[in-house]
Amino acid sequence: MTIFSFNRIGTALLFSGLSVSAAGTELSPQEKAEKTEVWEPVPAMVTAKPNSAPSDAIVLFDGDNLDAWESIHGGKATWQVSGNAFTVSPGAGDIVSKQSFCDVQLHLEWKTPADVEGMEGQERNNSGIFLQQRYEVQILDSYNNKTYPNGQAGSIYKQSIPLVNPLHPPGEWQTYDIIFNAPEFSDGSLVKPGYVTVLINGVLVQNHTEILGRSEWIGGPTYEAHGCAPLQLQDHTNPVSFRNIWVREIADNILTDFRE
Ligand code: MG
Repeated sequence: MTIFSFNRIGTALLFSGLSVSAAGTELSPQEKAEKTEVWEPVPAMVTAKPNSAPSDAIVLFDGDNLDAWESIHGGKATWQVSGNAFTVSPGAGDIVSKQSFCDVQLHLEWKTPADVEGMEGQERNNSGIFLQQRYEVQILDSYNNKTYPNGQAGSIYKQSIPLVNPLHPPGEWQTYDIIFNAPEFSDGSLVKPGYVTVLINGVLVQNHTEILGRSEWIGGPTYEAHGCAPLQLQDHTNPVSFRNIWVREIADNILTDFRE
């Protein structure tokens, strides 16, 4: 018996006798092959040109303004926009996307100042991306800058050390590409943890890493039930800059499983 499931639309069909026609005659190899072809739905076309957001992306910053963001304190996001980028206004507080997200593919680029005189460790231009306002992918100038590795750039802060360190020197743009599968809860309890994959400058640093709970500076992570939530960028009182931020919402794959 073979299960053919359409998990997006919630139907499951049971197939048996793949080698026999309705009339009970043996199928030809071509007819057998056609039994496992699935023609619907057809994946939507997405235009993806180099160095630009894919056509189905939600653009959160394209160089013009912070209209897609607001202050964590409420009201307008007041970080400074200049030259197709924006920069943390130290002390203004974190900013959050106006839109909430569940599973996403996220692209953003960030840069820390070239002058690092007298700065080291966690103080060398710290920021971060809080997925669903809870799970921090660390941003830090980790180029020749010793700190605890589970707090360096590309770590899931205090949870997971990046596989490698592909950072460019400070003063150069860095790219983050993040694939995030949100945790799932039922009746207030965790039923599936979150997972995150991170590439820095095109290099894999987190490979489908399990998220252990909310990122904490002190103490271990724990989960608390929540729904879809905004992205949040951290004001750690350092002038970290950002550009080219876009998100694609991830739908479930459609599984066509004809295993015997
Ligand atoms: Mg941080």
